[in-house]
Amino acid sequence: MTVLSGQGLHGPGANPWRGLPQAVLAIVVVVIGARFAPAQGYYLNILMQAATYAIGVLGLVIVLGYCGQISIAQAAFFGIGAYAVALGTVDFHINFFVALFIGVALSGLCGLILGLGTLRLGGHYLGMITISFQQILTLVLTNWIEFTHGPDGVRNVARPMLFGFSFDDGNTYLALILAAAVMVTLFVWRLKASRLGRAMQAVRDNELAASTSGINVYGTKVVAFGISAVLGAIGGGLFAGGFRYISPDQFSFGESIVLLTMALLGGVTSPFGALVGTVSLVLLPEWLRFLKQVYLAVYGASVILIMVFLPDGLWGFVDNRMRRRVKPVTGDVPPLPLLAQSGEATEEPVLVVEELAKHFGGLKAVDGVSLTVRRGTVHALIGPNGSGKTTFINVVTGLYEATGGKITFVGRDITTLAPHNRNRAGLARTYQNIRVFRGMTVLENVMIGAERQGNDVAHDPQAVVARALAALDFVEMRGDAHRLVGDLSYGHQRYVEIARALASSPHTLLLDEPAAGLNLTEKVELGNLLKRLKGHGLTIMIIDHDMNLVEQVADHITVLNFGKRIADGKPQDVLSHPDVIAAYLGEPRKHEAA
Ligand code: ADP
Ligand code: MG
Repeated sequence: MTVLSGQGLHGPGANPWRGLPQAVLAIVVVVIGARFAPAQGYYLNILMQAATYAIGVLGLVIVLGYCGQISIAQAAFFGIGAYAVALGTVDFHINFFVALFIGVALSGLCGLILGLGTLRLGGHYLGMITISFQQILTLVLTNWIEFTHGPDGVRNVARPMLFGFSFDDGNTYLALILAAAVMVTLFVWRLKASRLGRAMQAVRDNELAASTSGINVYGTKVVAFGISAVLGAIGGGLFAGGFRYISPDQFSFGESIVLLTMALLGGVTSPFGALVGTVSLVLLPEWLRFLKQVYLAVYGASVILIMVFLPDGLWGFVDNRMRRRVKPVTGDVPPLPLLAQSGEATEEPVLVVEELAKHFGGLKAVDGVSLTVRRGTVHALIGPNGSGKTTFINVVTGLYEATGGKITFVGRDITTLAPHNRNRAGLARTYQNIRVFRGMTVLENVMIGAERQGNDVAHDPQAVVARALAALDFVEMRGDAHRLVGDLSYGHQRYVEIARALASSPHTLLLDEPAAGLNLTEKVELGNLLKRLKGHGLTIMIIDHDMNLVEQVADHITVLNFGKRIADGKPQDVLSHPDVIAAYLGEPRKHEAA
């Protein structure tokens, strides 16, 4: 009955064992192939290099491709894993796997500490800090000679023994690292369609929208960076066992750039891109060797050309073409729970804002505004451009810290709560300038809403998909479920944004100029949509310029001017208030007189 790109209605991440048989088969094939392949010497080395580098590059897929954070220290994490295995087996005579585990733990710890220290700052701090970390590690590896053997490097790195079985033979070891590479690839691939993976991509595409959709942005970035450091160390540890000799220059800044190039060349948003990129950059120099002196120039030029003409990488190019053939989603889903109730306005206060202030330097964008939004009502916030409406919503949703005042939501003081926690408390919003996750599909965008912590369906992946589809049904966008949001028209992106908010079963919905940028037909549709929502008793605060829309749906209006509240009350009273007419409408409107 259902087609969801061949995954069933319940879509990505629904069944944790889905794909397991194929995965086991892939590993078995790779292991047997590697064990009995005639690869010797040179080819063996190339395969080992590609497999271990690929694991490190897969770490970059997570931190850069999924989460959008630039890390320029992947070679350093690779080096930590490699030195842990080398020094552990050579100097401390511990088991290979124990040494590898120590390296992985140490690398993950460094990743967490660096991430915790810098990722709260946003911007490019992580890039800068990872460059420094990379340089420091190279200095330590080179100069702490008693411990690291210095520039001479470490020789005779051991290969593992496990329960008496030796991986010493080249092909046997190759089988081990290829199996590891396959497992890491599958892990990274599955992560993308998981709740955590979606949160990472949401953070990459739009941090503000992620935070007001209930995602802990800082925490998500730290986890992404931590996992990438762990994968880097796994790749490095296996690399050390493969080549049996390591030295500091193999883990230098330049190598971090090589790993980054591999990721970008293949297509950094997909694990398969990482594999394609890694294999290409390992093989390309080998193929070009016959060019002798001009080899480096041709190599550099090829990489640049691929990046210029295929900005999504080699795999991204293929992937974009495959996406066009995705089938639509069919099948029945239960409607939004909201639709089961019928609404009526009550006197119960839901959102109580007292003397709220937000100053930007000397500018009082919001200047002591109080208002009360009551359950089941549509409360309009109007006022001329620049009167502080958006700033008001930004303070209420936690994007800006209040300069003064108090915000109470459903009886709880939320004045200092983080944006994602306000969303988890049931406060959802849309943006004047649409904020959707452009690199994700329509369905994925709305799933982010559905799986916000605290939502009734959040812990059931199947129910999350069903809820997202129900929200898309409500805005009549299900047919576009598998399209990339970035490819949609402006009006449709608005609907996706509204569906994302609705899927989170919000208690109260804040809409900042939802009609902005819509054409006339779309405005009429939006008006109908708001009336339907109101009919089901959702509490809504709406900012809009379109007085027709406001008059049609509002139960209550608050007017701002220069950050101050100049009127508040029933629509007919407010709209005929002389101050409001002077400030906002300019002159009494003609049809009112009629
Ligand atoms: P509205 O949504 O009513 O059109 P805004 O809330 O966007 O108005 O803006 C209110 C005032 O606050 C404007 O003068 C605007 O320039 C100023 N403002 C808004 N955001 C910021 C900011 N982040 N930094 C400085 N000034 C801001
Ligand atoms: Mg505004």
